[in-house]
Amino acid sequence: MNPGAGGRRRFRYAPTPTRELHVGNGLAALVGWAAARRAGGDFILRIEDIDRTRCKPALRDAAMRELRWLGVEWDEGPDVGGPAAPYEQSQRLAQYDDALARLEAAGRSYACRCSRADVRAAMRAPHLHEGGELPYAGTCRPQAGDPGVALLPGRGGYRLDVVSLGADAIVTVRDGWLGVTTEDVRTTCGDFLLGRPGAPTYQLAAVTDDLAMGVTDVVRGRDLAGSTARQILLCRALGAEPPRHAHHPLLVDAEGQKLSKRHRALTLAGLRASGVAPERLRARLGAAIGLWRDDLAAAAPADFIDALPELDPRDAAEEAHWHDGRWVL
Ligand SMILES: [Zn+2]
Repeated sequence: MNPGAGGRRRFRYAPTPTRELHVGNGLAALVGWAAARRAGGDFILRIEDIDRTRCKPALRDAAMRELRWLGVEWDEGPDVGGPAAPYEQSQRLAQYDDALARLEAAGRSYACRCSRADVRAAMRAPHLHEGGELPYAGTCRPQAGDPGVALLPGRGGYRLDVVSLGADAIVTVRDGWLGVTTEDVRTTCGDFLLGRPGAPTYQLAAVTDDLAMGVTDVVRGRDLAGSTARQILLCRALGAEPPRHAHHPLLVDAEGQKLSKRHRALTLAGLRASGVAPERLRARLGAAIGLWRDDLAAAAPADFIDALPELDPRDAAEEAHWHDGRWVL
């Protein structure tokens, strides 16, 4: 049976273990877990550890320990297994290679030899898309009757052919938290990178896994909202319906900036070591994004299930009071 067959909704939390989890990661895990539980669905823990030089098994194990301390439990994951195993991206590279090959065989992608510096140099007004992608000028795009370039080892990669989609590259995102937005991927990113055999991009790996794992709902922090339109196009290119999306508010520092992972005092392990109780931390995390009042002394994991908004894109416009939560040390 395919994972997710049978109509159950499936949610996932997908940390990258390059550093210890910080409070913002804890919030994302709690929100994703609570959304899954309220829907009566499955909750999957997936470790996004493709970068083997920066991702360490010890950090993966610590992440699972700290999530359990915070009250987050998963139905499927590296340590408990499940129908979509393995749950670590470093063990799924063959699946990404297969997705690359299918996209190329279907004429949906082409090889690009450009370095990042080449892409930047080819742009008229260099700016990064919100999702971190440099808009691509189409330097290696094959012309009619021309087979295009071959991939060079260690440089560039395959790109999804977005420009040929025409108006189908205009994606309407119905976000359960942020409401309805529209993005023309031809102008924000253009033909975006999928990676090379053995070295997929984040976009390719995340979408391939979401499809293989039967994920129906992507609930994650607003810092990843800029990837959504590209991921929807990639889902469709792979012949699948995209999942639902909801991007929750982030924790920010006193200046309104996203919390830095580098700050030791903000890691779950650091807070635990300093004697903070998980019920107190949960109370602060929920209050920071407005789920309840600031003066709540303790919160159970189940309180997140009760307090989450409905995550219906049609109502999201009325949720304009949702804002990023201040996290002051
Ligand atoms: Zn190129």
